[in-house]
Amino acid sequence: MNDKYQVHRMMYEFVKTADDPQMKLGAEWLGSVFRAVDEGLPIVYHSFTMFSEVMVALDLQSICCEGWDIMAMMADPQHPLKSMDVACEAGIPEDLCSFDKALIGSVLRETIPPPTMIVLSASPCQNMMISYQAVSELTGAPLWVSDSPYNLNQEGAIEYWTSQYKGLIGFLEEHSGRKMDYDRLREVLEESNCCVEYWLEGMELMKLKPAPWTGAFGVGTFAGITTFGTPSATAAVKAVRDQIKDRVAKGETAVPEEKARMIFFHLMPSWDQALVYWLSSQGVVMPFMVFDDYRVEPVDTSTPESMIKGMAKRALNTPMGKLGRGAFDEYIEDMLYAVDEWQGDCVVITAHPGCKWVTGGYGLIKRACRERGIPLLIYDIDLADPRMTSADESRAKIGEFLATVIQHKV
Ligand code: SF4
Repeated sequence: MNDKYQVHRMMYEFVKTADDPQMKLGAEWLGSVFRAVDEGLPIVYHSFTMFSEVMVALDLQSICCEGWDIMAMMADPQHPLKSMDVACEAGIPEDLCSFDKALIGSVLRETIPPPTMIVLSASPCQNMMISYQAVSELTGAPLWVSDSPYNLNQEGAIEYWTSQYKGLIGFLEEHSGRKMDYDRLREVLEESNCCVEYWLEGMELMKLKPAPWTGAFGVGTFAGITTFGTPSATAAVKAVRDQIKDRVAKGETAVPEEKARMIFFHLMPSWDQALVYWLSSQGVVMPFMVFDDYRVEPVDTSTPESMIKGMAKRALNTPMGKLGRGAFDEYIEDMLYAVDEWQGDCVVITAHPGCKWVTGGYGLIKRACRERGIPLLIYDIDLADPRMTSADESRAKIGEFLATVIQHKV
């Protein structure tokens, strides 16, 4: 057995016996990555703006790179920070997105298995595109970038994007020496369609007031980007859906007295998962985060063409991938949609230094919230690096904001 990736192997040992469905799924994913490493099998890097079904159907091990270091945080919170520092010492600019600095640093430190090939879609931001190019240069792995259309409603946009997805399959076939079996792809998509049904049902249940559950329904996202189309992903999403359904049946609520519902629209710091519990202790629930906003739909599995088109359309709706792709109107529309559907009392936007495309839209976000009377908090915090704003500072800002929200609700 390869003795590299000790932090992740430790994490794997830690979570493989966990009861929590998302942890279990994380263990399954890590376990399959280690099997591929130990057996010398090809590994495909992909961005979080792609689902994993094509790789599952081709029996290729995928690593969603943005998820890799996050998985290690529980075993060693310093692990991604060390990678970021190594990347900066090697000349990567400090203001690159910290998720991307961590990826480049992990490649340099050899704390992530090397890729055989790399695939991504050209969204949501330049940080990601330049970083994957850098990783391709550093490792010598060939790179495929699916070019995403700016305006989906424009004539020919979906056809163009579908052709990019066909190119993605061709690229994976060429560099793996494997051929797509469309009957196998159908099986994988029928599995992911089943997963999507549980996912959508879970998100519907989160609309209930008072909320039966807090922390939103992120397991769907995690399944989507790591293991979508496998029975384990479906089982994990179903297990969370079942827990929520069961709570609804028993009349159980996320907090004893729901004082406010927060829409964390851009995005919760990945290093502070305990924020959900802290908010609960304040009587505040989070029924929705943007990572739930996939607007996932089942894929028509009748023909190879319909399958590719369905996967392509689904991939365009990945969070951030969807909202960072075109005109900012869609961001505003989705934010207001989330407030309406999940009955939010307020919106929080984290001003992550990398997400400059959102910075440009702050004026539009503020105006939309002002017009609708929605309390809004935008505050500086790095989503992957606690050294910019600590958990205490973050909670102080959120706490002050929530005090006003709750006071004005009464
Ligand atoms: S959209 Fe923001 S968080 Fe996502 S990769 Fe780009 S800079 Fe990083």
